[in-house]
Amino acid sequence: MQSSNSLHSQILAIYEDRRRRQQDALLERMEEIYAKCPAYKELEDAIKDTFADRSIALIHGDETKAQLLKRREDDLIEQKQLVLSFGGFPECYDKLRYDCELCKDTGFVNGKRCSCYRQLMTRLLYETSEIKELLEKENFDTFSFEYFDKETIDPNTGKSAYEIMKYNYDIAKEFVTPFVPGKSNLLFIGAAGTGKTFLSNCIAREVIAAGHSVVYLSAATLFDRLAQMTFGKSGESEEKAVIMDCDLLIIDDLGTEFNNSFVSSQLFYCINERKLKNRSTIISTNLDLEKLKENYSERVSSRFIENYRICRFFNTDIRRKKRREGAGRKE
Ligand SMILES: [Zn+2]
Repeated sequence: MQSSNSLHSQILAIYEDRRRRQQDALLERMEEIYAKCPAYKELEDAIKDTFADRSIALIHGDETKAQLLKRREDDLIEQKQLVLSFGGFPECYDKLRYDCELCKDTGFVNGKRCSCYRQLMTRLLYETSEIKELLEKENFDTFSFEYFDKETIDPNTGKSAYEIMKYNYDIAKEFVTPFVPGKSNLLFIGAAGTGKTFLSNCIAREVIAAGHSVVYLSAATLFDRLAQMTFGKSGESEEKAVIMDCDLLIIDDLGTEFNNSFVSSQLFYCINERKLKNRSTIISTNLDLEKLKENYSERVSSRFIENYRICRFFNTDIRRKKRREGAGRKE
């Protein structure tokens, strides 16, 4: 994942591009107007001349003349609008437009970041998380129970791989129909290759398609970013806000990161903060609750028990099954 500074410069480049595009679009519209209404151009020139005369009058301190010229200027502007409308053009056809009217594509309103800035950052975080392409392949439409057979039995529950996946699949479906931020959180527990990530991907794709903001990070990347934001340079608070505020945060592979007391406290902060903000979180891990408690403290595991729906995954390694099948087909 890229640093916040490079995300920031990418966002500024997007604004610049938007402004340039809108300028070009305006020039095109003006060409259209000039071609259809020659009177418009004449009035425009007359307004420019009047404005210049008024500026001179003001420099000479001639208030009366300036006021007269101002009135003439206003009349000309009105006439120009009439010409535009008689020409069959919509109102404001000759005005510059913006992708975001609030900040006029600058990213700032009264010295504060505009809401569109955060939207752009969420989009870039999602696009750079390399998940976008993956979601085209791994979603509810491509999900198959093929690799979850009824013969493989989980010794702990006595249930088959199929039954367990069906149960988790139904919970995932329920989670997205419809997705309501903060309504629930999921904790996916299971060994590698049992379908946790695939099911998280299915959910991510649905939630994104419904227009919600989703940030998908591996635990290692998440804690690495949070460490840089905490101990690194300034100006990274926006990225932290995006991680804490997005409608759905998916933390993949918890337990594979380099663990220390900072990671434990940040994990608690993150799940707590998101709970307070009424946002949903999905965490997948290969650690059971006992191990989670051991690795990240009791307060973390009790938060999971209180606020997360726990889905246990079981299967013989799907990836191995797929590979075996692939090899079988070649023979
Ligand atoms: Zn804006």
